[in-house]
Amino acid sequence: MSSRASANVPRHPSGKVQVQWKREREKYGDKRRADHRAWMKANPESNRANVKQWRKKYPAKRNAQTAKHYAANSGRIKARDRAYGKAHPEIGRASANRRRVRLRGCGGEHTVELINDLFRLQKGKCSNCKTVLAKYEVDHVMPLIRGGSDDISNLQLLCVRCNRSKGTRDPYEWAQRSGRLF
Ligand SMILES: [Zn+2]
Repeated sequence: MSSRASANVPRHPSGKVQVQWKREREKYGDKRRADHRAWMKANPESNRANVKQWRKKYPAKRNAQTAKHYAANSGRIKARDRAYGKAHPEIGRASANRRRVRLRGCGGEHTVELINDLFRLQKGKCSNCKTVLAKYEVDHVMPLIRGGSDDISNLQLLCVRCNRSKGTRDPYEWAQRSGRLF
């Protein structure tokens, strides 16, 4: 790191410095922002692109940094993620599914767009009971736990009630239980 351009602008990043920054931001506003821009210009190694490069070059250090940051801010981060998930349920669902799949080590990945396609394909209705879907759940026709894939061809949107009733049952067994024969 080279020396700072201005003594007024503290070095980041550390918790203490951030508190100080916040105070300064409130006090000096625009002046502080201008100072910061000047500092960034005078210290090009700390700009975004370089930080990105550093992260790529030293993934282990980066991971350690992320872990440390997460440990120190887990409550705040979880709350933020929960709020984001609430505001964007379809993204939250897609990412929850991806996580489930990662944990089980299955192939395939479905994105928000694919799920939206599926919704259009099903004309917005539950693929089992044909109720118009106000709220849907992404179901694996053949459950992951039974070796089903995470490919879009193995996905359907069910209403919450149908999904609860289906659970991890074999799809044929479940259909027969609900009075349908193949
Ligand atoms: Zn249904």
